[in-house]
Amino acid sequence: MTVIVGVTGGIGSGKSTVARLLAEQGAVVVDADAIARAIVEPGSSVLAELAQRFGSDIVDDQGQLRRSLLAERAFASLESTQDLNAIMHPRIQEEAKRLLVASPAKITVYDMPLLVETDQRALVDVIVVVDVPEEVQISRASATGRFSAEQVRQRMQAQATRSERNNAADVILDNSGSLADLALSVEQLWAALSEQAV
Ligand code: ADP
Repeated sequence: MTVIVGVTGGIGSGKSTVARLLAEQGAVVVDADAIARAIVEPGSSVLAELAQRFGSDIVDDQGQLRRSLLAERAFASLESTQDLNAIMHPRIQEEAKRLLVASPAKITVYDMPLLVETDQRALVDVIVVVDVPEEVQISRASATGRFSAEQVRQRMQAQATRSERNNAADVILDNSGSLADLALSVEQLWAALSEQAV
């Protein structure tokens, strides 16, 4: 039976990096962000629900979601963030579950930024939280060029606090050191998980 490992952490904590390192060791990775992108394809019912809640202009002339406009509106208040989650998360969870139980791998990773917030712990056997101080989150996430520091802060506000996440963890991976340090921690994690998987 596969051991299902939920990998989570705040924006910029390094969870995609951890998922990639685990994949290099042989894990199958189910990526919640990839599912989230797939379920809003043009013509989908999820996209129609988003347009109804956040405005029809979040869909462009080609029927594609305007992600940044949706993000701007959805992260504007706690209420609108909750509405976004209520539309997206049941669908993400359903698809993730289908992929996780079908995984043939010894160790399967569920890469899920909001694992703790959306109470999806029933989907996983082990919760690994990738942890860094908040200022490191901001500097690493904004250094990717995908977000401004302000956009990172906005997303951090929509996520659990560092202590809420760490309290939910079975394993905390400290990623305040170098990438080489992280690779070593992931190797040790892999060895521990492999023992559990037999
Ligand atoms: P997340 O998926 O949690 O948002 P990523 O894994 O994408 O985070 O990491 C955010 C950025 O920080 C990436 O550019 C990644 O290469 C970089 N990064 C991750 N861990 C480290 C580290 N230990 N040292 C330096 N940069 C790191």
